[in-house]
Amino acid sequence: MSRNIQAVRGMNDILPDQTPYWQYLERVWQEILSAWGYREIRLPILEKTELFKRSIGEVTDIVEKEMYTFTDRNGDSLTLRPEGTAGCVRAGIEHGLLYNQVQRLWYQGPMFRHERPQKGRYRQFHQLGVEAFGMAGPDIDAELILLSARILERIGLADTTVLQINSLGSPESRSSYRELLVDYFSGHLDELDEDSRRRLHSNPLRILDSKNPRMQVLVEQAPRLMEHLDSESREHFQRLLAYLDDAGVSYQVNPRLVRGLDYYSKTVFEWVTDQLGAQGTVCAGGRFDSLVGQLGGKPTPAAGFAIGMERLVALLMDVGRQINMTEPQVYMVVVGEAAERQGMLIAGQLRNILPGLRLQLNCGGGSFKSQLKRADKSGAELALILGENELAENRVAVKPLRSGGEQLMLERDQISEYLETKFSQNKRS
Ligand code: ATP
Ligand code: MG
Repeated sequence: MSRNIQAVRGMNDILPDQTPYWQYLERVWQEILSAWGYREIRLPILEKTELFKRSIGEVTDIVEKEMYTFTDRNGDSLTLRPEGTAGCVRAGIEHGLLYNQVQRLWYQGPMFRHERPQKGRYRQFHQLGVEAFGMAGPDIDAELILLSARILERIGLADTTVLQINSLGSPESRSSYRELLVDYFSGHLDELDEDSRRRLHSNPLRILDSKNPRMQVLVEQAPRLMEHLDSESREHFQRLLAYLDDAGVSYQVNPRLVRGLDYYSKTVFEWVTDQLGAQGTVCAGGRFDSLVGQLGGKPTPAAGFAIGMERLVALLMDVGRQINMTEPQVYMVVVGEAAERQGMLIAGQLRNILPGLRLQLNCGGGSFKSQLKRADKSGAELALILGENELAENRVAVKPLRSGGEQLMLERDQISEYLETKFSQNKRS
């Protein structure tokens, strides 16, 4: 017996019961983003491996062990994108979108990381990414944070998430802080896990980001970057906090928030929930002023964030949010070949006159009884019934499926008006 082929581990099918949540999220943020002046950019899923090595950093979880990298038929090393910022910057430079300009961009789609699959952590997952280029001040950091707050508020998750924020300072202040960290951790060599020992000299800041519970005390007591910030970064941070205070957005300053990618500087932030277990970050971002220059463009200040869609959908479901836009409103029962042909015509006319009506036409035949069963199972509110008798009288029977009301007969030319009145309250927006 041949075994069924299954999906690749950590890569999920998103089934029709769940897609309404995805569509809902996409609709909400597309509306907000365009209202705030952000424009969509669509990017390839495959990029040259070099792009990610140069942007994310060689000594990061992503580049060290999580990338899906392969050599294509030409012998080029390609990688399925593990995140979107690098590709967005690459495209911005390549098409001259960044040079001496201000850009507000967004994209959404799948990302790929070879991580250990668990709740909230998959090998193919989806992000909404938002990036702003050409603005160096804390006002755009504030705008991005308020934008992410707006999205969370609109979908009803403002009360379940907390904003954490930190500053990583300038590359210069970070390098002197780095020395302090190396000294500190070198004094506790025996307490470091293997990953951290390896990073001690290559990327000691990442030790602060360690997820290993055994290292938490050590990390808590490490010197704090916030206390070693350069004056410009400190002022940038204070001004950002003032914007957030003005807007009434509450936040927690978290000195251990360093983010898993090397390209950040100054502002970093995350929206975190305690309702999803260990994978509680639903949105993460920050400033990355050196990335455009690092990838060959003219130095351009930039900041952005990414929302993890799987985690947001999980949170929506967790708080019991009902989203159901796909059940038909009307199920059309057609019994007999003549009725099937007329039914196809009537359905076509109704779809023309009422484009928003969710109408499902019975296909595949079946007795009156079995079609009514399908109608009931479809979740529709009404069945429109077309059988031999109705056909002869040029009428259609209407049977309420949920409310238990009386069945009635309608002339064919009354149907659309009847349905329009009936469903006018809950038209699809
Ligand atoms: P984490 O600390 O959870 O590993 P990260 O710092 O690697 O997150 P980013 O690269 O900043 O995450 O990605 C932004 C967001 O994308 C995360 O906050 C999360 O919501 C989501 N995300 C990241 N990796 C995954 C994954 N493997 N599966 C599902 N969602 C993910
Ligand atoms: Mg990660």
